[in-house]
Amino acid sequence: MTGDNSTVEKSQSWFRRAAAATPGGVNSPVRAFASVGGDPRFMVKANGSHMWDADGNRYIDLVSSWGPMILGHAHPAVVDAVREAASHGLSFGTPTTGEVELAEEIIGRVEPVEQVRLVNSGTEATMTSIRLARAFTGRAKIVKFAGCYHGHVDALLAQAGSGVATLGLPTSPGVTGAQAADTIVVPYNDLDAVRRVFAENAGEIAAVITEGAAGNMGAVPPVEGFNAALREIAHEAGALLIIDEVMTGFRVSSAGWYGLDGVAGDLYTFGKVMSGGLPAAAFGGRADVMAELAPLGSVYQAGTLAGNPVAVAAGLTTLQHADAAVYDKLDTNARRIGSILGDALSAEGVTHTVSLAGNLVTVFFGERQPTNFDEVAATETWRYAPFFHAFLEAGVYGPPSAFEAWFVNAAMLDTDFEAIEAAAPAAARAAASATPPERA
Ligand SMILES: *Cc1c(COP(=O)(O)O)cnc(C)c1O
Repeated sequence: MTGDNSTVEKSQSWFRRAAAATPGGVNSPVRAFASVGGDPRFMVKANGSHMWDADGNRYIDLVSSWGPMILGHAHPAVVDAVREAASHGLSFGTPTTGEVELAEEIIGRVEPVEQVRLVNSGTEATMTSIRLARAFTGRAKIVKFAGCYHGHVDALLAQAGSGVATLGLPTSPGVTGAQAADTIVVPYNDLDAVRRVFAENAGEIAAVITEGAAGNMGAVPPVEGFNAALREIAHEAGALLIIDEVMTGFRVSSAGWYGLDGVAGDLYTFGKVMSGGLPAAAFGGRADVMAELAPLGSVYQAGTLAGNPVAVAAGLTTLQHADAAVYDKLDTNARRIGSILGDALSAEGVTHTVSLAGNLVTVFFGERQPTNFDEVAATETWRYAPFFHAFLEAGVYGPPSAFEAWFVNAAMLDTDFEAIEAAAPAAARAAASATPPERA
């Protein structure tokens, strides 16, 4: 059934049980609706562009599992591949053939990647990339950008995006001064700041880590030439450029953000889309850097379930089906969402900017395209919760945070867009009548 999405009793009751069993009732913070309020929905199934919650309400899914589900949910070929792999055994703790095929698929798509290693999450991928960069250069310091999120690696939680930004945390308690001391945070898109920290820390910086395009403070593309200049500055100083494509990789083009700007990083991190929706991620890059990893070199990294055959089957099959037609569709769908949201807000006179980074879309409630986290934080983010909830009530599941992108998938139907268009005026009115929080 479709329902009018007014009954959420079962989700509420599951959330009570969840909150008793798990801190905050969730296994990843932004799922808890902390910044938008209301009751998180417990999903029980999904197919194509739709998800159904425990009360039987249907949603058009514009989160797509925070990125992975580019083909839509329960794609028949992916489900078949997973079933087939599972029937042959779940894990061996030995090399398997599928791992090689997935590694070759990634290498074949992203030219600067000569070798990869598979891990279980994006967090592991960035954590090891940093360890590797430090070992390769013999240096300690890492430069990251405010509002970029690279997983919950201790050293990278400083002024991070995603849930860290949503919950307004400068960093996380539990990260020691020593762990954070070698992390230098600079504003995104600010090359002068990057040059300054390189000058101030001559010979000490191991790497700059950046998202291909920032997607974890909402979609904020790099300004023209930004990634290329990072590469130049890093290389002049003997440092590496780590491009985190966990979000953009294999989503914004077949070669990820690299396919759009052609700037070669020394190391890359991947996850989300290449997992097909099961736990899998990867890091890779220059063969001379990757050669430092055990068992070839002495930089240690390992994983009991790394390269798991079922996860690899889901990821490989997803990539094999992500062809030019899928990328066209993702781009078109993202632009359609952007214009539906933008037109509805314009009709209500709500100041906004539709921001696109490839096919990642975010509507910012501000006059100008933000270029860094301070500008994002200065937008009228308090308009977002009522906007989100009006859509949710109409069966449109957007990201439950103003600091996230809307993720389209290629399974979206014309009728989905009609439903989103029909829901947009009420959402825009809700945003228009929102009032700022009182200052304490
Ligand atoms: C999601 C994300 C991560 C973390 O990946 P997990 O699999 O959640 O650990 C790292 N970097 C970027 C850019 C991401 O979007």
